[in-house]
Amino acid sequence: MGDLLSAARTRLFYAAEALELPPSLCASLKYPAETTALSIPLRRDDGSMDYVKAWRCRYDDRLGPTKGGLRFHPSTNADEVQTLAFWMTMKCALLDLPFGGGKGGAQIDYGALSAHERERFTRALTDGFAHVFGADRDIPAPDVGTGPTEMAWIADSFSRRVGRQERSVVTGKPPVLGGLSGRAAATGDGAFDTLKALAGELGLENGANRIALQGFGSGGRRFAQAAAAEGWRIVAVADSSATVFDGDGLDVDAVARSKDETGSVGEIEGAQRLASEAVLGVDCDLLVPAALGGQITTETVDDLRCAAILEIANGPTSPDADEQLRARGVRVAPDILANGGGVFSSWLEWVQGRTQTPFDAESQRERLRSRMTARAEAVAQEARRLNVDLRRGAYALAAQRLADAQAALGGNAYRS
Ligand code: NAD
Repeated sequence: MGDLLSAARTRLFYAAEALELPPSLCASLKYPAETTALSIPLRRDDGSMDYVKAWRCRYDDRLGPTKGGLRFHPSTNADEVQTLAFWMTMKCALLDLPFGGGKGGAQIDYGALSAHERERFTRALTDGFAHVFGADRDIPAPDVGTGPTEMAWIADSFSRRVGRQERSVVTGKPPVLGGLSGRAAATGDGAFDTLKALAGELGLENGANRIALQGFGSGGRRFAQAAAAEGWRIVAVADSSATVFDGDGLDVDAVARSKDETGSVGEIEGAQRLASEAVLGVDCDLLVPAALGGQITTETVDDLRCAAILEIANGPTSPDADEQLRARGVRVAPDILANGGGVFSSWLEWVQGRTQTPFDAESQRERLRSRMTARAEAVAQEARRLNVDLRRGAYALAAQRLADAQAALGGNAYRS
């Protein structure tokens, strides 16, 4: 069992203990239900053949078909994929969605492939995992390295294989093929809805509105735009090349232009340019990690100068660092809540595909706002009831829902 997954599970075990849930709940969630490991053939443009390691994990499906992204990245491994699938299980349970948790990954420098190689690889991967995928079984979505184009190829290859249109096998499709217009913005918008609902709990009142943001990709950028539009001051933004800082507040549109035109957030006038990792130590009211996992650890936690944290990235804070933050009184809006807008919007896309009833942009946004606000308020209430922090409150709600489903399904004692 990998280190990442063991660390991730401790948060569930703590919640189950606090709620005195049956020990069989933790036993049933200790390991993934199913992880498929494959070697995917990749025919290169010069005719040679490579083989790429890939995994798809269906962690738990008691609440519905497994749902989760597909990551193409050179450092992806089985432990990471299974841990991300575990977090998806918790997130879908917390957000009251009829999905279990899944995740997939391929260990590949996908960005270095030609366009034809990318398509061949994605279609070959779909063939390989066709027995795992299914609109009622396991539904991939975009993650790091994949996007609507890959989802369109997967939907097409899968549909050809089963001999009928089965586009609900993926979410995050291009709108012309049944995707949602609001999907790309949903994670950032949902994170901002969470922030507004929890501002009091996070101690962000009375003008405390300085935000430092790590990561300016699809989640971070949209969050910054939404926050700046409502008067929050984005004092620092970092990507993998630099941090830009302006205590009076950055012009987020100028940061976006710099990123689009130069590939870095660092090329804007009038702002101080610092090293990429400097963002973690910026004096601010709210730090928003929206890049990679494992950023706030026992090595970096002492550098932090924020009053609160909103986690858009999956797993940015290690359990040990979490304890230190708690001791210092730094409040954290946890990832399984704050970045849940993406999977909520994926569920809308899935419903739209199954019912052939489209959601317009306004109704997508309103449904997202309403669900994120309600779940954030439920987490705050549960945390108060148990006298614990917001992360523990969130895990407690997720654990309770999984336990309720387990009880409703029965013990399966007769199953051989
Ligand atoms: P992305 O690839 O679009 O953007 C990532 C950003 O992080 C880029 O700006 C990149 O430059 C920056 N970055 C990478 N390494 C960095 C470093 N060392 N320091 C500072 N910045 C760095 O990714 P995304 O889709 O925005 O996802 C970001 C995080 O949010 C991931 O952890 C992902 O799992 C999580 N997440 C995303 C979604 C979604 O719908 N996009 C949903 C849920 C969770």
